[in-house]
Amino acid sequence: MQIKRLRLTGFKSFVDPADLRIEPGLTGIVGPNGCGKSNLLEALRWVMGETSAKSMRGSGMEDVIFAGTATRPARDFAEVAIVAELPEQQDELEIIRRIERGAGSAYRINGRDVRAKDVSLAFADAATGAHSPALVSQGRIGAIIAAKPGDRRAMLEEAAGIAGLHVRRRDAEQK
Ligand code: ATP
Ligand code: MG
Repeated sequence: MQIKRLRLTGFKSFVDPADLRIEPGLTGIVGPNGCGKSNLLEALRWVMGETSAKSMRGSGMEDVIFAGTATRPARDFAEVAIVAELPEQQDELEIIRRIERGAGSAYRINGRDVRAKDVSLAFADAATGAHSPALVSQGRIGAIIAAKPGDRRAMLEEAAGIAGLHVRRRDAEQK
């Protein structure tokens, strides 16, 4: 899967709509401290279905919504969209996650309302996702080195594109 565009509005420090094209060969983001590098990576993980507010450096998921500054009022929603291309498929995939204060998160794939699970399965089948080792955020290298064997296995399974199988097996066992 190749992620081609990242659009965000009201997400953390990106209060105004931003539309970023991700060209082949992009491997890192540089900029001064506090300019939003980590926020961008978090936006990518968030739209892929990240459920841990802590890993987004917040205490609750609504903390991703622009909280306001001395000169600008807070927003009441945040939205992140990515446009991705799957190998051997013609159509692009547009995935959107939106959170509103007091209303939680909602997801859409190509304009259709879907469950969080549909989004994480779509990424798992494409061997990527919110926890993909391809997204190297601050402190991740140390975390991989220090990971327990079980956690390291999960990283390998995700890279191999079989993480979705476990989810489906658990589902099948519950039915
Ligand atoms: P560093 O180089 O220090 O790692 P960085 O470029 O990774 O910096 P980020 O951590 O992405 O920077 O951005 C931090 C900025 O985002 C801070 O100024 C912080 O106030 C702002 N920020 C985070 N969450 C929100 C929010 N919900 N509303 C408004 N601003 C936010
Ligand atoms: Mg950072």
